[in-house]
Order: sequence, then C-alpha cells, then structure tokens
Amino acid sequence: MDYKAAFRNALDKVHAEGRYRVFADLKRHRGAFPRATWTQADGSQSEVVVWCSNDYLGQGQNPVVLDAMHQAIEEAGAGSGGTRNISGTTHYHVELERELADLHGKPSALLFTSGYVSNEASLSTLYKILPGLIIFSDELNHNSMISGIRAGGREQRRVFRHNDLEHLESLLAAAPADAPKLIAFESVYSMDGDIADMKGTVALAKKYGAMTYLDEVHAVGMYGPRGAGVAERDGVMDQIDIIEGTLGKAFGVMGGYIAADPLIIDAIRSYADGFIFTTSLPPALAAGAVASIRWLKAHNEVRIAHQERAAALKARLIRAGLPVMPSVSHIVPVLVGDPVHCKMISDILLSDYGVYVQPINYPTVPRGTERLRFTPSPAHTDAMMDDLADALETLWAHCNIKRVGGYAA
Ligand code: PLP
Repeated sequence: MDYKAAFRNALDKVHAEGRYRVFADLKRHRGAFPRATWTQADGSQSEVVVWCSNDYLGQGQNPVVLDAMHQAIEEAGAGSGGTRNISGTTHYHVELERELADLHGKPSALLFTSGYVSNEASLSTLYKILPGLIIFSDELNHNSMISGIRAGGREQRRVFRHNDLEHLESLLAAAPADAPKLIAFESVYSMDGDIADMKGTVALAKKYGAMTYLDEVHAVGMYGPRGAGVAERDGVMDQIDIIEGTLGKAFGVMGGYIAADPLIIDAIRSYADGFIFTTSLPPALAAGAVASIRWLKAHNEVRIAHQERAAALKARLIRAGLPVMPSVSHIVPVLVGDPVHCKMISDILLSDYGVYVQPINYPTVPRGTERLRFTPSPAHTDAMMDDLADALETLWAHCNIKRVGGYAA
C-alpha cells in the first residue's frame, strides 16, 4: 500500500471540489471585540473585523468572565487533574452544574468537555439505558447528534425531514407502539438560522409517548428572558426531557452539558464513556462559565441588542440586493451557491477588506447551497456593517454572482 499516495489522493479530492479548508491565524483583541489581528504565512499582519464568531455576545471578553477565570487559576491552578471519577470533580464543576440546572429549570445537570461530546455521549448512551429505543432525528441535526444516534444501528433510528412535523408524526405512528422513543432536534439550526416548532414537537412527543432531546447550542445565552434558550422563550422548557447546550458559543468559554431529571442525569453519568473516561474541564473554564451564565441571566438587554444588530445587518444586506437566506434568528446567511466562488469571496474579503468570514461549504451544508454565514454581535457597529455591505456589493458585481437568488426580497 502506498500510504502517502492515499493521503494525497484524499486531499486532492477536497481540493478538486474547491472545499479545501484553510484556517485563518487570528489573535483577538481583548476589550475590542470583534477586532483581531490576522497573521499570514509570510508573517505579515493586518487588522480584521471578525464576522463569523460563535462567541455571539462577546462574552469571551467580558471582564466578569475573565476575572473569574483569573481568580480560579490563582486559587486552584491549571488543569483539573483527572476524570470526574478520579480527582477531577472540583468545587467549580459542582457549582457550574448547579448553575446550569437552575438556568434550565431542571433539578440536575451534567458537564462534558464540549457540546460535541455531550451530544455524542448522551445520545449513544440512551440506547444502553432504554433497550429497543428508537430515536427520531431531524435530518439537519448536527454531526455530534448524528454520531451518537448512529451508535444504535440502522433499525433504531428514523430521520424526519427538516422541521417537518407531519413527516415526524407519520414516522412516530408507524413505529411499534410499545417501543421506547426519543425525538432529537435542535432549536436554532445554525447554518440556515431557522427555528424548530417547540410546541408542535412537544405535543407530538406527548401523543406518542416519546421523550424529547433538544440541542440548544445556538440558543443558550441568547434566547429567553434569562438566556436559557428557545424552549424558555416559548414556555416549554419544563416539557423537554433533556436539554443540551454548549459553554463555547454565547457563554464565551468552552464545554458542553445536559440538563434533565436527576434519574436521567445519574444514569448517563454512570454509563456514558465520553463522560467517564476523559479528564474534566479545567477549573478556570468552569469558573468562567459560571460567571458568564450568571451575568447573562441578569442582562436581557444584551439579548435585545443582539437581535437588533442581526435585524440591522439583514436589512442592510437585503437593501444591497444580496441573497440573504430567510433566517428568523441571529444568524445571517448569504447564499453563494458554489464552493469556488464562496471561497474566493471569503479570501478577497479577508485580504482586501479586512473582513473575516469563513466560507461554509459541503459537508457542513448541502452542495449548491454554499454560503457566507455572518454572526453580528452587539459589538458590531453600524459603520462595520456599512463597510461590510459595500465590500459585498463590490464583490458580488466583480464575481458576477446572481444578486437576488430567490431569497432576498
Ligand atoms: N450542536 C450543534 C448544533 C453545533 O452547531 C455544535 C458546534 O458547532 C455542537 C453541538 C458542538 O458544540 P461544541 O462546539 O461545544 O463542541
């Protein structure tokens, strides 16, 4: 076997499809979010505005969060020192789980090292706890959910069309009445910016005796009066069995979790390999997350400002005739429609306009729907938006891309 040739072939394939990924080397400026310094391969540096961060509210810069992290390092040092079972359960972890349980109005919560791990570990473990479980999964669920759901094998999963409750109901009705069932879905779908029908999904779960598992990764911190997510906003938080979230996006730090009934939490804690066999989060991350969650619970004005900024950007880009996809959330996707143009526009924006927005290509989104995905935060100013809209207008003309592609009004 020519191992090198196999690796080269794999990379050539990605290059040929125009979706080879290049990471931008960025250093964010504390206190000046969303500004950053971009370092190129030759060592040259320039200033950019970051338009695609999932630190949606700039909490990674909030002095309250940073102070808590500094203090934890002073008090407890760097790493946690082990798995949760072997000396890695610190007071910071316990406090954070309490804070998360309170956020979601659940008695218990369980921390993982990332949102990815929390989904993968929790969903795959549910098959061990509920023999014969069938998981009903939205077709656009995140890779981390799919990975956990696949652990059950083909017979144990049903995939319903995205946000299509009629299809979901037909699959629920066709499944054996006595089989344990779980509906796994997201609130905000992060690539299109659409939002699931919470009440409709919960009603179907009740009708067919199914449990519900909701990924609120792109909603926690940002929706609901205390930032618990869309289920809080829509008044159904108490009717969702397991709520999953991340500490790495709007909370500005890192880590993942689930919140649920204590029996569910205890069983997953006891069976989930992705929880048991890995070193727990460093205390400073846990302390930063507690500070961030507490602060956001009490600062609804940040959520209001965030929504206003998203609406302002959508309006500006639509006015400029750009194909803004119909998002109902804080995410502003602009359709390009092919990977080569998508990457080209992103490259030129970075090199010539100081705008950093990553191209979103297959497999993150279906082929033919390649896009730029903007995530305006409360710190993105009108002037930044004007600069962005001007740059995009110029590039759309320059690259000869269809301006109103059935999306923008
Ligand atoms: N769930 C969804 C819907 C996501 O988009 C992501 C990450 O982008 C995750 C889970 C994973 O979260 P984390 O980045 O904390 O691993």
